[in-house]
Amino acid sequence: MPLYEFHCPSCDHTFEELVFEDEAVACPDCASQQVTKLLSLPGPPTSQIRPLPLASACGDPSLPPCGAPWCQRKG
Ligand SMILES: [Zn+2]
Repeated sequence: MPLYEFHCPSCDHTFEELVFEDEAVACPDCASQQVTKLLSLPGPPTSQIRPLPLASACGDPSLPPCGAPWCQRKG
């Protein structure tokens, strides 16, 4: 679900809100709809998204050969 962080400049309140499509977002404190969407919600660290080493994946004999030069699987 799209969870976004918003900041209300009227009362300097920061809050998180689930937003669908073009749904209007209002500040839970002062009900102002002049809120700013923040894009700083913490996501998964990019360091954790490592590409799978192809060489080790190609060492799995249960999979068909992939055609890569380092592929150890024989048709
Ligand atoms: Zn507010």
